[in-house]
Amino acid sequence: MDKLKEKFLKGEMPKVSLYDIHAHLGGYNRDYPVFYGTTEEIIREMERIGIKKAFVFHLEVYGTEFSYNNDKIIADCNKFSEYLIGFCLVNLNYSQKIIEKEIERCRKLGSVGIKLIAQYQDYPDEGKNVEFVCEYANHHKMPVLNHSWGSPKFLERLVKKYPLIHYICGHPVLAYTEVVNKYENIWFCTAGVSGFGEVEKMVRTMRNDRICWGSDFSDLDFGWTLGSIILAEIGEKTKRRILGENMVQLLKKLSIGER
Ligand SMILES: [Zn+2]
Repeated sequence: MDKLKEKFLKGEMPKVSLYDIHAHLGGYNRDYPVFYGTTEEIIREMERIGIKKAFVFHLEVYGTEFSYNNDKIIADCNKFSEYLIGFCLVNLNYSQKIIEKEIERCRKLGSVGIKLIAQYQDYPDEGKNVEFVCEYANHHKMPVLNHSWGSPKFLERLVKKYPLIHYICGHPVLAYTEVVNKYENIWFCTAGVSGFGEVEKMVRTMRNDRICWGSDFSDLDFGWTLGSIILAEIGEKTKRRILGENMVQLLKKLSIGER
């Protein structure tokens, strides 16, 4: 049994530098409250578990009050800049003028990337505003994490048209495997992984340098995907890559170092 699994089964901390590619803050938002989920409490938990850095966006994914929530994320990222790297989020149903104005405002205030989640906003995954956001992100070399990139064909079309973006698949949809394997700028997040043998299949079929741990905190608990990876029947070296080393490479590509 590898060291990570042994520690985990004893209830001990994994003692590995964890990097989280998909996380939410915003227990303060009235549409989706997370009790005992203040940013201060989350930071304490990140320190306890050993999470060095996380990409964060707000939990109010419907985007009904996006400016208010983006401001909260920006403030949290400034306060805890050692741990948090902020992505802004907009409701894709708004006009391109309003979307651009908000993303531009957030970028100037320090947002590093953009989070998309069309499904929760009753907007089509392959709608024209998704492409509009990618055009903006490509121009400013911002990474984009999308809850769903629609069909693999759609994702591939965007990758070809907007090659300067680092694309992050927000959840482990294995249909994207072929596209992920083909390009140098697509990253695959494990948030929500739960099926028996799912991690093993991912590691068998997908390039291992692209799979990154995403906990989806504070929507989900840190332990869910941490357990799925640490207990999977894959090599310890691969586990370490997924849990942190791969995202460190992404941060280097984005010129985000230790602050
Ligand atoms: Zn999420």
